[in-house]
Amino acid sequence: MSETLSAREIMEKLVSFPSVSDVSNLPLIEWVDDYLSGHGITVHRHYNETNEKAAVFAHVGPEIEGGIVLSGHTDVVPVEGQPWSSDPFEVVERDGKLYGRGVCDMKSFDALAIWALVEAHSAEVQRPLQIALSYDEEIGCTGAPPLIAAMDGKVPKASSVIVGEPSMMQAVTGHKGGTGFEVHVRGFEVHSSIMHTGVNAIMYGAKLIEWANEMNEENRAKVPSEIDAMFEPPWTTVHVGKIEGGTAHNITALDCRFALTFRVVPGESAEGWANRFREKVAEVEAEMQAVRPEAHIVLEEMFDVPGLVPEKDGEAEQIVRSLTGDNAPRVVSYGTEAGHFQNGGYSGVVCGPGNIEQAHQPDEFLTVAQFEAGEAFMRRLVDMLRG
Ligand SMILES: [Zn+2]
Repeated sequence: MSETLSAREIMEKLVSFPSVSDVSNLPLIEWVDDYLSGHGITVHRHYNETNEKAAVFAHVGPEIEGGIVLSGHTDVVPVEGQPWSSDPFEVVERDGKLYGRGVCDMKSFDALAIWALVEAHSAEVQRPLQIALSYDEEIGCTGAPPLIAAMDGKVPKASSVIVGEPSMMQAVTGHKGGTGFEVHVRGFEVHSSIMHTGVNAIMYGAKLIEWANEMNEENRAKVPSEIDAMFEPPWTTVHVGKIEGGTAHNITALDCRFALTFRVVPGESAEGWANRFREKVAEVEAEMQAVRPEAHIVLEEMFDVPGLVPEKDGEAEQIVRSLTGDNAPRVVSYGTEAGHFQNGGYSGVVCGPGNIEQAHQPDEFLTVAQFEAGEAFMRRLVDMLRG
């Protein structure tokens, strides 16, 4: 039997692991596994393909379906190049604020979830509580789908998930989905005086970017559905935020590279938009190849995060509303793992301590008041599960 730590002590421990997305999270996972196992909880691990990272999940309470999952990610964004006033991997309290990488996004919630799981286990709750801690959330939510698949069959299926991304402990019931591509247009170089015999990668790339402009105009003109109307803006956007290419003003450009991303309203599918883009790419590529058959376009998918679709009288939303007393409709513009859970058959809601504006920042902080609001939430949750 391990010593039982306070939620704050667990949080300080989690922050001390520099679990940036580009390194292994196993030291943190070992600690969580030992802590929960030490309290008599069965812990399951799911490793990534290289065995360098793992997700953990656990179930407490009766061996029945219909429980609640507390979902968090263990990875944090890098601190390199950021001006920090203190060691980012040590929690420091100054003026009612807790500073450290991940205190907001989202190790405080992880700690609160670990604390609640131990509480629920010793309280012999009537309704199950589960925890699911992923990896690789910060690089496109890619750790969630294998984790959700691994939970299937290993633990009784829960019906609701609370994803603890920073929301000031308010219920967030929807967010847009997102998908994005690195586009590499490969042309054919000739002197620009005979440009009709070459393929200018920049000028063909511009056709794809102009397609993005057209789509934005088209989408803006649509009448949004009731759900889509909750978002700002209430339509799907296509964005090009970075471009490079070309050699000189008088050479048809050999290469053009840019990043094109979609933020998709719940009423439309990210996959559908990705397919429309692929069709346009095939059309432009055919034009290029009519001039020079070796010219081509390569697409690399950067991320694919499904949206969280607001549910009508959703169970997860009802739970969070009853525990927080917050009844305002609220959707956000950042992506989370909640859409993956929803696709996996869970009712989903986002609710966690802290303000998203502090996430990923130098001197990332969480107010002590928000941490305490999170603790109070977890106490009420365990009470509710007692029945
Ligand atoms: Zn996060």
